[in-house]
Amino acid sequence: MRALVVEDEKRLAAGLRNGLEAEGFAVDVALTGTDGLWLAREESYDAIVLDVMLPGVDGFDICSTLRNERVWTPILMLTARDADADQVRALDTGADDYLTKPFSYAVLIARLRALLRRGAAERPAVICAGDLRLDPAARRIWRGEVEVGLTAREFSLLEFLIRHRGEAVSKRTILDHVWDYDFEGDPNIVEVYVRRLRNKLDRPFGKGSLQTLRGSGYRLADDGG
Ligand code: CA
Repeated sequence: MRALVVEDEKRLAAGLRNGLEAEGFAVDVALTGTDGLWLAREESYDAIVLDVMLPGVDGFDICSTLRNERVWTPILMLTARDADADQVRALDTGADDYLTKPFSYAVLIARLRALLRRGAAERPAVICAGDLRLDPAARRIWRGEVEVGLTAREFSLLEFLIRHRGEAVSKRTILDHVWDYDFEGDPNIVEVYVRRLRNKLDRPFGKGSLQTLRGSGYRLADDGG
């Protein structure tokens, strides 16, 4: 297994190298964000240990750049202690896990092993169906290059449909996941919301991605329609 360590504190970087090598990893170390991003793009790694505060490009930017370029190498970010915002941002920019400094090597190695078991499957922070893009963390949505404003409920419905793109989903399933499971209002509320989404996301763009399936519910066309 080959790991990249991006950490500007030399002693910590050396410690990480020794700790990972002792576990049988081949380790490359980058002492700046710029070098780290370059290596992560040029070389193939099984895991990346990424500090947040770095000279050049910071850890968040490295992480989101790699994910935007469809590099799915598992990333473990090293965040400052008691910085909840950093931990949230690490995960939202596409990191798989984080550890707060100071940390124990035993825990770091265990976390990395867990990430390696999961592998580098695609898990974009932004989800797409055709030219529809949805950012769940920022709660923003685009059709092509045009950002579209949605209400909270419209957004939840669209997120559910995009996560199940290409599948037939019943009105009941949608009610259970987007409304409360004990929703007892008129189930036709789903149709009302689907119509609103069509008016915002399909009609103005000449698309027909939100399909009604006779008797079985709805489907968001995988190709965006
Ligand atoms: Ca640092």
